[in-house]
Amino acid sequence: MAIKSPYVQSVFETVKKRNPGELEFLQAVGEVLESLEPVVEKNPEFKDAGLLERVVEPERQIIFRVPWLDDSGKTQVNRGFRIQYNSALGPYKGGLRFHPSVNISIIKFLGFEQIFKNSLTGLMMGGGKGGSDFDPKGKSDNEVMRFCQAFMTELCRHIGADTDVPAGDIGVGGREVGYMFGQYKKVRNLWEGVLTGKGLTFGGSLVRTEATGYGCVYFTEEMLKARKTSFEGKTVVVSGSGNVAIYAHEKATQLGGKVVAMSDSNGYIYDKNGINLDTVKRLKEIERKRIKEYVNEHKGAEYKDGCAGIWTVPCEVALPSATQNELDGKAAETLVKNGCIAVAEGANMPSTPEAVEVFLKNNVSFGPGKAANAGGVATSGIEMQQNSQRESWTFPVVDEKLHTIMVNIHDAASGAAEEYGTPGNLVNGANIAGFMKVARAMMSQGVV
Ligand code: NDP
Repeated sequence: MAIKSPYVQSVFETVKKRNPGELEFLQAVGEVLESLEPVVEKNPEFKDAGLLERVVEPERQIIFRVPWLDDSGKTQVNRGFRIQYNSALGPYKGGLRFHPSVNISIIKFLGFEQIFKNSLTGLMMGGGKGGSDFDPKGKSDNEVMRFCQAFMTELCRHIGADTDVPAGDIGVGGREVGYMFGQYKKVRNLWEGVLTGKGLTFGGSLVRTEATGYGCVYFTEEMLKARKTSFEGKTVVVSGSGNVAIYAHEKATQLGGKVVAMSDSNGYIYDKNGINLDTVKRLKEIERKRIKEYVNEHKGAEYKDGCAGIWTVPCEVALPSATQNELDGKAAETLVKNGCIAVAEGANMPSTPEAVEVFLKNNVSFGPGKAANAGGVATSGIEMQQNSQRESWTFPVVDEKLHTIMVNIHDAASGAAEEYGTPGNLVNGANIAGFMKVARAMMSQGVV
């Protein structure tokens, strides 16, 4: 990391001192601060207003106990989090992650990124994130329901349709959102759009399920257009096999790409004929099985242990869509060597700083998560609009809005990259374009 400005460096030093050992959080803050150096130079009033010092500090951090009973009647205790990071642009908005790796560093990194991602969508949403170290894997439906109810019994005091609107993330899909919505409604006696990603019969939006994956591919399509090419005939690798990965596969295939590899946290599958998405959807969405089961049904396909190996599969487009720091510098070099020309992050911060450097140095078009995966939260914003109006819009209407937003995000990021002297660097561009709107709102709202 190379921050040159003494002022920006001093802000980063304070963040490091206040948040010792929070590696993911410090990684995310460092990357944004580095991009913002030319912005602060051009706008000295931001320094006078202590804007950077304020934007790196969450407005509110809530940590709580979540006790629940498992199927054998034994008491289990998990930890719950909600970081209400920045409300300059609207109610806090961001997903809930249920995964054993969840800790304060991970939730703060995700919440911090969410501020700028939400700003890039052009919709009125602040940034937040939450979750728990609860592991839904291997739990019965009843255990998941009891956990979600216990989690929401506490969280419901802190959220609301005009205050803070959570959604899904890793380990939180339609089932979990439904249970949490039911508990919120019961405890608060309020039927309101307090969560997004709801079921279609109770206020959910069409396209929300597909939105992050589709949006990531729409963004990639713009990057490919800028290189005067398209998805047509391209070999694509998508890591993960959850919500984002599945719908990234679906849209990339619709646009003429061939997805040959997918993964889960145990390993990856390779199918030279193109991975059959119906099989993956059934295994992961309905049967909740492991990805290796795929090869039992598709004889030409191979399974290999170890998810990181997926980056050795030759491809022209890579869409890392599993989790943070899943693609390191060495993997990036392998991708470049094998002819990869575009990488867009379906997941949040899946590429390490070393990997990003490799991509930028080698003229690989690189779409950072806060731009490339903003389609999920954008469609959540569209779900909030429908809930406010008590309306349900059709699939093509919502999909068109999503598509337009993704094109606009690409244009805003590439325009800001150009304006601030790093043309083609969408990392800088997304950070700057996202930050400017938040900064102007914070300047107008005074020291709060
Ligand atoms: P899911 O829970 O649906 O799927 C997650 C996938 O990633 C699974 O295949 C999972 O494998 C894999 N995975 C999770 N943790 C690890 C790990 N430590 N190592 C390797 N693989 C792992 O989550 P989503 O698809 O919703 O989210 C994926 C990413 O996209 C996350 O970074 C999330 O923050 C980001 N994102 C999601 C949005 C959404 O709308 N859902 C919006 C914007 C970003 P396994 O089953 O083995 O755990």
